[in-house]
Amino acid sequence: MRIVLVGPPGAGKGTQAQFLSSHLSIPKISTGDIFRDNVKRSTALGRRAKQYMDRGDLVPDEITIAMVRDRLSEDDAQEGFLLDGFPRNVPQAEVLKKMLDEMDARLDVVLELVVDDDEVVRRLSGRRTCRVCGRVWHVLFDPPGREGDCDDCGGELFQRDDDREETIRHRLEVYQEQTTPLISFYADEGILMGVDATGPVENVTDRALAALRPFME
Ligand code: ADP
Ligand code: AMP
Repeated sequence: MRIVLVGPPGAGKGTQAQFLSSHLSIPKISTGDIFRDNVKRSTALGRRAKQYMDRGDLVPDEITIAMVRDRLSEDDAQEGFLLDGFPRNVPQAEVLKKMLDEMDARLDVVLELVVDDDEVVRRLSGRRTCRVCGRVWHVLFDPPGREGDCDDCGGELFQRDDDREETIRHRLEVYQEQTTPLISFYADEGILMGVDATGPVENVTDRALAALRPFME
């Protein structure tokens, strides 16, 4: 299956992508994770992306699209994928469509995780990420057994630089202005499914799987 997850920052895309990709045996492709990995390794791509990420702005399309094109050409993405954080505006969605046309493929479904701004701020301000395996935790809603350490791999947890309050607010504005037009873009294509992303993580996963079921054959 070829799936896109869309929703505001903090909606739970990365959290759900972890479960859905292993359940469906398709790779999770998170553009945010790829950028952060490049920033950590201080590659040329990471050095170009960092200034935009720190401000909470989108990284320019030509950089992002080239990176996604490379990733989608890898062997593991040929039979399906779960995109988390891409596309983030209509031009990216149009290019994705062209890339898939070239592969003689198409998206099966776009899942929109629906959650309000207050909840998003609560989620982002307590988010912690593992430096080693990338697993996402929350200090209140999904705490690890030992504060500061990842239960899965023992790695150190850190707070993302862009999860500060003023940057969170700016990222929500960017989402409203640039990403919400994707909702009607994919609704027009007939592949948009809204998923209530409130409540416990497992309930959201169940709702997401129920929304995917009709597309699984
Ligand atoms: P996104 O990838 O959409 O930015 P994340 O998956 O990183 O969002 O989730 C943001 C934060 O919210 C994380 O700390 C995560 O643990 C927490 N979270 C995710 N889903 C839920 C949920 N259903 N209820 C409460 N907290 C959640
Ligand atoms: P995320 O991990 O999805 O919250 O993304 C973190 C940051 O990476 C964003 O605020 C952007 O700066 C950048 N980013 C991730 N995906 C994209 C994208 N598709 N287009 C442009 N910038 C992106």
